[in-house]
Amino acid sequence: MASFDVIVLGLGGMGSAAAAHLAAGGQRVLGLEQFQPAHGFGSSHGRSRVIRLAYFEHPSYVPLLLRAYELWEQLERDSGRSLLTITGGLMVGTPESEVVSGSLRSAREHGLAHEMLDAAEIRRRFSPFTPGPGIVALHEPRAGVLRPEEAIHAHLERACADGADLRFGERVVDWHAGPSGSVEVRTMRERHEAGRLVIAPGAWAPALFKLPSLPLEVERQVLYWFDPVGGAAAFAADRFPIYIWDLGAGVQCYGFPADEAGVKVAFFRTGGGARCTADSVERVVEPDEVIAMRHALAPCLPALASGRLTETATCMYTLTPDHHFVIGLHPDHSQVVIASPCSGHGYKFASVVGEILAELAIEGTTRQIDLFAPLRFRLRPGA
Ligand SMILES: Cc1cc2nc3c(=O)[nH]c(=O)nc-3n(C[C@H](O)[C@H](O)[C@H](O)COP(=O)(O)OP(=O)(O)OC[C@H]3O[C@@H](n4cnc5c(N)ncnc54)[C@H](O)[C@@H]3O)c2cc1C
Repeated sequence: MASFDVIVLGLGGMGSAAAAHLAAGGQRVLGLEQFQPAHGFGSSHGRSRVIRLAYFEHPSYVPLLLRAYELWEQLERDSGRSLLTITGGLMVGTPESEVVSGSLRSAREHGLAHEMLDAAEIRRRFSPFTPGPGIVALHEPRAGVLRPEEAIHAHLERACADGADLRFGERVVDWHAGPSGSVEVRTMRERHEAGRLVIAPGAWAPALFKLPSLPLEVERQVLYWFDPVGGAAAFAADRFPIYIWDLGAGVQCYGFPADEAGVKVAFFRTGGGARCTADSVERVVEPDEVIAMRHALAPCLPALASGRLTETATCMYTLTPDHHFVIGLHPDHSQVVIASPCSGHGYKFASVVGEILAELAIEGTTRQIDLFAPLRFRLRPGA
């Protein structure tokens, strides 16, 4: 049985970044992934993810984001891959909405560049949007689009270049933390031993964390691409920003400039989407789901609402009740690090989460993340 310093379970968005940072730090790393690199069955596919700085979820994400941007830019330079396109971002809604008021709070608290636009100014600058009276937007210049599959390849290549042993098509079936401080991981093929284990399994976390009282739920999500009425020119990345639109009643939709398949849109929050498990999620998109998306877009982006549907994809959120991430040492095993930075907004952090997971695995502590401690939930010891 081969022995490693650290095993990384799951090589998706977070695990690939952790493997890269651990290997760069001189650790002997084994990475285990059940599918192929940058596959389409978890939470990190669909060609684009929003990155933004004026964070409406909480101002304390902003320092992490500043570091995430630095690391993405560095990875882009080192890998030669195109990972990030800055488009600017619009956070749209009523002035009191969570999206607008929360973004403004973060921008003010951290002195971030931003502008407030009224409905007429939004229409003037970004003609596909048709906000009604009373709708405003915070515009931030540094927001943009990340390419998750490209970024996963870049992190995996970096990990390999620094000597990591990465295995694909190898599903982990169980792990045990020994009393001596080591861990044993059993896959469908063999057993592996290491001093530390980083578990970054995305939507498979509820079973793999071995913390049944941790309140994680998996929610099915659908991504839609439309061919806009009137053509895609007005949706090009040099003139159309990423956006999140707070529609009220807990519903938020978001979208991107045009890519090769069309203009991508999705619901960010729906106030209660379909719960599922990672192995049983429904991949078929029903016609009534497309109708609901068109209905939501009609008052905001009519050229998309009436556009031809060109592609759909399904994906999964792993949600916590407060929508903040879970990252930390396993409450029962200090040699095990657990990571569920999702709740639908984690990808943009993957670069810095990789750094945090490496710090936790090597040093047992990190300065970066009080907000995400697993023990903020009432966990039953040993459960
Ligand atoms: C539709 C959608 C849109 C999103 N939009 C945004 C956005 O715009 N901006 C943003 O910042 N975030 C966004 N997010 C959230 C973000 O994508 C996730 O936070 C992020 O992808 C989670 O990465 P992960 O590594 O935890 O999961 P994944 O990338 O899914 O990786 C987990 C990996 O673990 C592997 N694994 C699981 N179990 C095993 C096992 N037993 N053995 C071996 N391997 C295993 C899986 O196969 C998978 O590859 C979105 C998420 C979704 C679903």
